Amino acid sequence: MDIDKSQFASDNYAGICPQALQAMLDANAGFQAAYGEDRWTQEACDRFREIFETDCEVFFVFNGTAANSLAVSAMCHSYYSIVCHELSHMETDECGAPEFFSNGAKLLVGGGENGKLTPHSLQQLVTKRTDIHYPRPRVVSVTQPTEVGTVYSVEELKDLWAMARTYGLSIHMDGARLANALDFLQVSPREITWECGVDVLCLGGTKNGMAVGEAVIFFDRAKAEDFDYRCKQAGQLGSKMRYLAAPWVGMLRDGAWLENARRANACACLLDQLLREIPEVEIMFPRQANAVFVTFPPRVTAALHARGWSFYSFIGTGGARLMCSWASTEEGVRAFVQDVKDVLAG
Ligand SMILES: *Cc1c(COP(=O)(O)O)cnc(C)c1O
Repeated sequence: MDIDKSQFASDNYAGICPQALQAMLDANAGFQAAYGEDRWTQEACDRFREIFETDCEVFFVFNGTAANSLAVSAMCHSYYSIVCHELSHMETDECGAPEFFSNGAKLLVGGGENGKLTPHSLQQLVTKRTDIHYPRPRVVSVTQPTEVGTVYSVEELKDLWAMARTYGLSIHMDGARLANALDFLQVSPREITWECGVDVLCLGGTKNGMAVGEAVIFFDRAKAEDFDYRCKQAGQLGSKMRYLAAPWVGMLRDGAWLENARRANACACLLDQLLREIPEVEIMFPRQANAVFVTFPPRVTAALHARGWSFYSFIGTGGARLMCSWASTEEGVRAFVQDVKDVLAG
């Protein structure tokens, strides 16, 4: 069997998983009301309420940048600020969209080991200035799992929540890969979201195996006021909403979203384990979700690319990012590791 050498480049290099695709085909039968008045949208929202075990308010948008930007904007006046980790996607990969959609709210970047914002860093940023000349901190954003593939524990989230509460901050969670965190922690969705004070969650569908689409889930319903208008104005209100919603039904119905994450995590786990056996390869972060970050000797990266393997080397703090998806395979992992060994021996 041919090994696909693009399989570690990104989880959005993968195709659509069978469950999401089948749901789109099912949704394609006949006429359905537009702009979210269809039965698929209704069912997807109901399933989210079931899975998160709370009466949340759900919206569907096309991508993660829009989800994050609109979600934080819903909690911000233009003169507020949003605290996030310096490696967060909102800071490094959204082209200023959170600032743009909030009409100027400022991102305040904090730090912490392994891509995780610490309560201490949060506190420093919030207390650094309290005068009228500085944008007022009102939201903290956490990415779960982080951009470097680590996962906040329930306890770490609760510690952040306690600090956020002290200063009256709302909590946004960028869950572009939340399912991978759930698989790692083996907890229920509510335990790492609203039970940790999360007000709004951006839940990733694309990287989890859908063609397109993310869900914006408000656990604090009051904060969802007029969010439909916000989406519409931003060009994020899908008219044929059923095609954004139906794949979620396919993913959630029999647990495909968690199964996809389990497979991606298992591949990353094996990759981590096999690469650790090679002395010249340095693992940069604890492998907790579906990514492995490694430092290869310089010639190795070039040689692996020359052998056809694609992976990114500019994400996080540098090094090679090997990202697994629902479609990654054990054969792919073994072939990659063999090539690393061959290159080192050659
Ligand atoms: C991929 C990703 C997103 C969404 O990116 P889009 O390209 O805008 O869909 C958001 N947050 C994180 C952490 C991501 O990795």
